[in-house]
Amino acid sequence: MATIKKQSGIGIGFLGLILLSTVLFTTYENKILWLSLSFLLMTLGGLFYFQTIYGKPLPGIKNDGVWFSSLSSRGLSGWILGMGLTAFYIAIYWFPEILGFNSEDKSSGLVALFDPLSYFLNGQAASQWFLYGTLYTFAILLFGVKFIWKYWGNRYQLFRTLSVMFFQLCFAFLIPEILAKLNPSTPYFAKDLKNMWPLNYYFLDEWHLTNMITGGNLGLFFLLFGLGMIFIGSPILTYFFGKRWYCSWVCGCGALAETAGDPFRQLSSKKLSVWKFERWMIHVVLVFVTVTTIAALWSFITQNPEMSLLTREQFIGGVVLFLFVLMTILFFWKKNGLEKDAKYTLVSLGSILILSLCIQGFSGQNNILFLNSYSFQKWYGFGVGAAFSGVLGVGFYPFLGSRVWCRFGCPMAAILGLQQRLFSKFRISTNGGQCISCGNCSAYCEMGIDVRAYAQRGENIVRSSCVGCGICSAVCPRGVLKLENDRLKNRINPTIYPLGNAMEVNS
Ligand code: SF4
Ligand code: SF4
Repeated sequence: MATIKKQSGIGIGFLGLILLSTVLFTTYENKILWLSLSFLLMTLGGLFYFQTIYGKPLPGIKNDGVWFSSLSSRGLSGWILGMGLTAFYIAIYWFPEILGFNSEDKSSGLVALFDPLSYFLNGQAASQWFLYGTLYTFAILLFGVKFIWKYWGNRYQLFRTLSVMFFQLCFAFLIPEILAKLNPSTPYFAKDLKNMWPLNYYFLDEWHLTNMITGGNLGLFFLLFGLGMIFIGSPILTYFFGKRWYCSWVCGCGALAETAGDPFRQLSSKKLSVWKFERWMIHVVLVFVTVTTIAALWSFITQNPEMSLLTREQFIGGVVLFLFVLMTILFFWKKNGLEKDAKYTLVSLGSILILSLCIQGFSGQNNILFLNSYSFQKWYGFGVGAAFSGVLGVGFYPFLGSRVWCRFGCPMAAILGLQQRLFSKFRISTNGGQCISCGNCSAYCEMGIDVRAYAQRGENIVRSSCVGCGICSAVCPRGVLKLENDRLKNRINPTIYPLGNAMEVNS
């Protein structure tokens, strides 16, 4: 009976998806009807299916058969889904005309189907980005319901999921669209309050800064709010709560990973080699985005001196001073919190950066850091902003797990991770004596952290990559793991027991 109910749910949901997809090949007159019908069927099918699986909860979290399902263990269904998602992302970013988008004239096909909703919300015809934003938000809401059902009884998961659903629906989707409708003559700038630099890598780009400065009170508000969040709000929140306040409670990328990506969380690799690669990769991206931003600000100041509060010399002096102070603090004050290789890389990179800034900045050249900021930004936008965050980040859920982007490519996660590692009250405490080494926690850690290794030693987990999703704690049958905010002192408590590898314990 349950199997028939499950299959009916899948069938109804697929019918909705097929209805939506037929628009790729034809244009319907009654768009409202087709759009509503396809979303209704997808919602009903999804809810029916989730109810069958999670509706009558047995004690514990239902992860049965996760390694036997073709979808969640890199089987045929997983491959089909992964390739479908990847193809969709490639179309959205580089070939939107396949979806019916027409930048010169009226769009058709799938993009045009969303016209009624787009006119209603922002007063303009739909673009491929509106289509994407709608589907993205829909996925978070639908799979968010499933997530709540699955983890029913765990209050942390309940509130966290409601929070990401709220931020995605209101702050990332509805408010920006409505603001665009209310301010039709205001130039475009990202009107998403939770979207700050460096996740929004173009926040400090010349065109974006100019649009905010010339965007009236609304533009100025977003500029000041963004700067306030980068330099004040975010470090304070991370100090008190760890990076989870953003990565697991607010961020849209995290929201999709946690909800739609939940069936794939166990696919994240726990290998030491992957962890080493992750540390290098994510910090290289952070350096990359910092350098492009400095270069972009330099071009802004050079080309718009009348809009700038600082002269070129003051700007370079300020950046050099900031980098110098940051390096000194990290190297001397927080030296115990960083690995040797991290410390030396930091000093070499920082010195190269400071030297090149001084040489080019004070000699009055138009390009800074020996770069043409525009081509550099273009490559960043292509490589990291589109290919990594979209195609790899979501398209590869069924192959590499749900947090590929957060783990290897998100510069925001890198900054918050450094703050979490160096000065945050957050940690996961472990009651080692209770651990039965079942490995559930490690298996379901989407960030690839070997949680069990810490639990077995009774060691606090203070890892820059931990997004504080709390799933390790939720799936632990012995109540070993506790997400806590407490005093900074002694939060890193390495134990002397070796783990069977040569890695230093305090990492
Ligand atoms: S260690 Fe636990 S809380 Fe941290 S990312 Fe992994 S599963 Fe989530
Ligand atoms: S899930 Fe709990 S009992 Fe199992 S290995 Fe992890 S900490 Fe130990």
